[in-house]
Amino acid sequence: MARLNNGLSMPDIGLGTYRMPEGKVTENAVKYAISAGYMHIDTASYYDNETSVGKALKDSNAAREDVFITTKLWNTEHDNVRKAFLKSLKRLGTDYVDQYLIHWPVEGKRQESWRELERIYDDGLAKSIGVSNYTISHLKQLLDSGGICPAVNQVEFHPFLFQKELLDYCESKDIRVVSYCPLVRAKRMSDERILEISKRLGHTPAQILIRWGLEQGLISIPKSENKSRIEENIGALEFSLAKGDMRILDDMNEGLRLTWDPSKIP
Ligand code: NDP
Repeated sequence: MARLNNGLSMPDIGLGTYRMPEGKVTENAVKYAISAGYMHIDTASYYDNETSVGKALKDSNAAREDVFITTKLWNTEHDNVRKAFLKSLKRLGTDYVDQYLIHWPVEGKRQESWRELERIYDDGLAKSIGVSNYTISHLKQLLDSGGICPAVNQVEFHPFLFQKELLDYCESKDIRVVSYCPLVRAKRMSDERILEISKRLGHTPAQILIRWGLEQGLISIPKSENKSRIEENIGALEFSLAKGDMRILDDMNEGLRLTWDPSKIP
């Protein structure tokens, strides 16, 4: 469990749900995840699957307080944050979320939206609030404006995009970094260096990638809609990586971005 700056505990691994369609695919993935021991589901209004996430959680009979739910404010929703948030709650079928994030640092809107997230937090409707895709400069601007310090910054983070400076900055401000695309969207599973570590340690490439993030102090949200891969991925909690192997993985950084680069947003 990770401890957030407001004292809330957040599971180190969550199920990512981007590109999971509403309906059986998402419902089954969430159910497989809960039975495999995931107690954290990452969704967003943009993913269009909050209703299925909510339904699966109800059907799974997991106690609401045992599952950590994160959802996010999409870029087109900044003009009425409260309304967007309440719609997400309704779709999820819950009366609070564990985490609400600003999905992207939308220019000209994000500061005012953050004030509304603070009110949502003060009203107890989100147990923690945070941001996503914020660079150091976006975070500095937010922190300079006073108010609540974000609990997390959810960003693309994997050995091929090792954002060390951003991680160090977040750590210095007690902001936890949540790693999205921790599996590099399965594009580098046959990298020779990862395969060598994987064979030597007897853990799969996916587990090595997720474990690298956990060793860096990240919270990880790998996505899979496949039962056996969902079970495989949470196995990353069950071993550790020695310093030498961490160094090999640390050296893989090549600035590879699979999503948009937020540094262009002023
Ligand atoms: P990931 O790095 O998690 O990779 C997902 C891909 O890897 C899928 O194609 C999946 O296929 C495959 N995969 C999963 N497990 C394995 C495995 N064990 N072996 C081989 N392949 C595997 O990418 P995502 O982009 O989905 O990122 C994770 C989550 O982060 C998202 O789902 C979302 O919740 C969040 N996110 C947040 C963003 C933001 O802006 N805040 C942006 C992007 C993502 P299959 O499903 O068939 O198993």
